[in-house]
Amino acid sequence: ALEIRNVHKSFGAREVLKGVDLTVPAGDVVAVLGPSGSGKSTLLRTINHLERPDLGYVAVHGELIGVEVRGARLHELPPRAVRRQRTRIGFVAQSFNLFPNLTAQDNVAEPLVAHKRLDRPAARARAVELLAKVGLGDRGGAYPRQLSGGQQQRVAIARALALEPGLLLFDEPTSALDPELVGEVLSVIRQLADTGTTLVVVTHEIGFAREVADAVVFIDDGVIVEQGRPAEVLDRPQQTRTREFLSKVL
Ligand code: ATP
Ligand code: MG
Repeated sequence: ALEIRNVHKSFGAREVLKGVDLTVPAGDVVAVLGPSGSGKSTLLRTINHLERPDLGYVAVHGELIGVEVRGARLHELPPRAVRRQRTRIGFVAQSFNLFPNLTAQDNVAEPLVAHKRLDRPAARARAVELLAKVGLGDRGGAYPRQLSGGQQQRVAIARALALEPGLLLFDEPTSALDPELVGEVLSVIRQLADTGTTLVVVTHEIGFAREVADAVVFIDDGVIVEQGRPAEVLDRPQQTRTREFLSKVL
C-alpha cells in the first residue's frame, strides 16, 4: 500500500533523510523506532506531502504522491492532485491539534464538510459515529479543554478516520500523555490495526510495537538501519546501533 523509494531530504546543508526505502503492504502495521532527530517525523511528513523529497518518491496505493526524480526528469503533481491524495492519508500528531473553539463533534465533522461536502447535520451525525468508535460517543459536545489528553487524542484519531483513509500515520501519538492515559489511546490504535487499515506508527512504546506491529523499523541518522518482524528486531537485533538504542528504551 505504501512504497517509499530512495527518499532524500535536506534542510539547508543538513541531510535528514539519506535514502529511505520502505514497503508497507496494505493492511500492515509498521512501528517506527529511532532516536530523537533521526528523521522519523520528517519521514511521516514526507509521506503526507507536508515535505517534498529532494530525491526519490513515495507512492500510496500505487499512486505517486511524492516527487520522482529520474535522471533530469522531475515529475511533480499538480496541487489539486496533491490535495486529493492527502485526503486519503490520515495523520495524528503528538500534540492533538484540535480546534480549541470547536466541540469534539465539530472537530471531527470539519473534514467531512470541507472535503466530502456533507451538510453540517449529516457531518455531525457521522462525527458521533466516529467518536463512538474511539469510545467518546457521549462527549461530542465537549470542547477540547474539557477533555483529558487521552480523550483529546482519541478525538484527533476520530477526525483522522473521518475521510476513511487507507493509510494512517501516527507521530508519537502517546508521548504527550500522562502514563495512565497512554493505554486508552494505544487500545484505539490496536482496534484500528484489526480493521485492515495500513498504519505507520512512530512510537517509543516497545510493548505496543511487539504486540501490534507486523514489522518494526529502526531508523537512525536518516537511514533505516534495521527492519523486520518485531521479534527479530526487538529481541535479536543484528546491528549495534539498534542494540544500543533498545538498551536505552527497554
Ligand atoms: P524526535 O524523536 O525528537 O521527534 P525525529 O526523529 O522525529 O525526532 P525529525 O523531526 O524528523 O526527527 O528531525 C530530524 C532533523 O531534521 C532534526 O535535526 C531537525 O532539527 C531537522 N529538521 C526537521 N524539520 C526541519 C525544518 N523544517 N527545518 C530545518 N530542520 C528541520
Ligand atoms: Mg519526531
